[in-house]
Amino acid sequence: MRTATLCYLRRNVSKTFRRWLVVKRMLWIRSQVNGMPPLTGGAAITIMKTINLSAAPRKEFPCVKCGLCCQLVHLATETRFLDRGDGVCRHFDVESNGCLIYEDRPDICRVDRQYDLHYFQNYSWDEFVAANLEGCQRIVEHMQP
Ligand code: SF4
Ligand code: SF4
Repeated sequence: MRTATLCYLRRNVSKTFRRWLVVKRMLWIRSQVNGMPPLTGGAAITIMKTINLSAAPRKEFPCVKCGLCCQLVHLATETRFLDRGDGVCRHFDVESNGCLIYEDRPDICRVDRQYDLHYFQNYSWDEFVAANLEGCQRIVEHMQP
């Protein structure tokens, strides 16, 4: 086996193992809090699969930070709760064209989170990214005079 392949496997296997340990630790803490017996390693693997902690590296969503989707939150039912009254999100910062609560933004604003929660069983990450980019394109068209 070539060195590059070995390195790739080592890196990704160890990443999966670290994630498995995190899930296992999380279950142990929960069991302590709830006074229930700790779940098995098999349960940790099942949970990893359920929440799609895939070992495959994922390309980052190529957002160009145009800020347009944050200025049209009234258009989707799922984001309407963020509307400050004129379609613009109440957390949108006009000066920086960015999000004031970026690190704590809701799940609906996180492409990767939405994928993990609702779409990973039906679409590949690349397909999901392509569909979202199409959405971005539609938003740009919507904003054009
Ligand atoms: S419209 Fe698309 S590219 Fe622009 S900020 Fe939103 S997600 Fe990013
Ligand atoms: S919370 Fe942040 S990311 Fe989400 S719509 Fe508002 S400004 Fe944009």
